[in-house]
Amino acid sequence: MAMKVQLAGFNVEAALLEETRKRFGEAVTPEVISAAYARISRDPRNVSALRKEARGAVEKARRSNERIVFGLGHASVAEHAVVNLDLTGLSRLAVEELESFRLASYTEKSQRYIRLARDVVVPAEIKEARLEREFRSLVGDLHDAYETAYRSMAASGEDPGRAKEDARYLMPLATATQLGMTVNARELEYVIRRLAGHPLDELRELSRRIFKATKGLIPSLIRYAEPGPHYREMPDAMREIAAMVPRRAAKREPIGASVRLVDVTPEADTRLAAGIIFSARGVSMREAGAAAARLGSKGRGRVIAGALKRIERHDSVWREFETVQFAFEIVLSASCYAQLKRHRIATLLPQPYDPRLGLSIPETFVRAKRVALLRDAAGRAGRFYGSHARKLGRAAEYSLLNAHRRRVLFCLNLRELYHFSRLRSDMTAQWEIRMISDEMCRLAAEAGPFGALLLGGKDGFAEKRRALFPEE
Ligand SMILES: Cc1cc2nc3c(=O)[nH]c(=O)nc-3n(C[C@H](O)[C@H](O)[C@H](O)COP(=O)(O)OP(=O)(O)OC[C@H]3O[C@@H](n4cnc5c(N)ncnc54)[C@H](O)[C@@H]3O)c2cc1C
Repeated sequence: MAMKVQLAGFNVEAALLEETRKRFGEAVTPEVISAAYARISRDPRNVSALRKEARGAVEKARRSNERIVFGLGHASVAEHAVVNLDLTGLSRLAVEELESFRLASYTEKSQRYIRLARDVVVPAEIKEARLEREFRSLVGDLHDAYETAYRSMAASGEDPGRAKEDARYLMPLATATQLGMTVNARELEYVIRRLAGHPLDELRELSRRIFKATKGLIPSLIRYAEPGPHYREMPDAMREIAAMVPRRAAKREPIGASVRLVDVTPEADTRLAAGIIFSARGVSMREAGAAAARLGSKGRGRVIAGALKRIERHDSVWREFETVQFAFEIVLSASCYAQLKRHRIATLLPQPYDPRLGLSIPETFVRAKRVALLRDAAGRAGRFYGSHARKLGRAAEYSLLNAHRRRVLFCLNLRELYHFSRLRSDMTAQWEIRMISDEMCRLAAEAGPFGALLLGGKDGFAEKRRALFPEE
């Protein structure tokens, strides 16, 4: 069969789709592509013919999808159907939970580049607890403080962009935002199910609305909208597990460094060199490991440098770098978390926000002599949180500021750390995530100096590469 590439479909903006649906009816659904591709595995006909058939008999295509995806469990077929969703009027807190779903794409209004309006989400939990007035008064004061901080920074000669980007440390997690999301039907069903059992009312409501907006378009691919007890009762299970651990064994330690390397592949450079030798020489991993050990440090350095020799600024390091894994424990602000969580090729376990972890204070507040403003605002928000946390549960976090912090476990491999540091140790990166990224690179270099040779921001890449390969 001669090679042929044919466009089978693409995403089209909703108003145009509506017009097309008026003409072609139900056939205008991404289910057609899923059904056609599902048949590839068992039907010898050409895929274009399968597509034509699915297009001409949508109800049959839907039945076939249901049987294959849900009956047989060949669920990856649902990944061929993709939708785009405009999401508006969501709080920052809710967006954080939504964006924890990694197999989707998001673009969100930046609090860094846009001067923020006084638009907030007042969650149902706060209304039901009759705390709306107190809450509105708090967020009103936070918005006033944001404006004051912004003006003070601008007046003290700060770049207006930087002033905007740092004044937002005063904004509450209830701040409303908007985003665009692109997601395939398999992940979408998972999002709907998980959010349907979320402790926050706003996310349960989001689940219902996403279901309503998509069910009519892809009914054969979204079947289960309710979570089972495994996820719905996860908070209960966590409480039970916490009770199994004696207080003494799980006591709180003071916060030291905000980045700690808590786990790393032992002998990181030897493992990396072994991974590269495994691919280069075609030997077993055991033999590759022994060869890497025999080469000595210099020899391993040469092998790893060989894997980096032709790399340019926008290239990713080879997949062999994934053989080295890191686990970092990081204490970071909500502003910074909003950025960290966007890195999807990683495992991120966030703890809830906790005012006891203190604040991240931008230097611009120090220079503008507005630290007290931030501390006072955070203190007030912390008191609201402390007084009502028992009643509100996780919804108390809506009152906290972008400067408030949480602790996370961030596990990623060396290849992803390269990608992360290119973006986040770069001069264009936001200051807090840059500090964190720089520290992660430093700790990674302690664990495996050769593997870490070209870690760092895009801006410093050329110089680092020249220093490493002066003859090139
Ligand atoms: C300076 C700066 C400004 C930013 N401003 C904004 C902003 O205003 N609004 C906003 O929403 N975000 C913003 N971001 C976040 C940015 O869009 C990314 O979401 C974030 O940097 C994570 O990068 P990533 O997707 O490359 O990383 P990861 O998710 O860690 O992915 C690593 C790599 O895997 C591949 N990959 C992962 N998932 C996919 C996929 N679904 N399809 C194809 N390839 C994939 C890509 O090669 C990617 O580089 C900004 C980031 C930076 C650095």
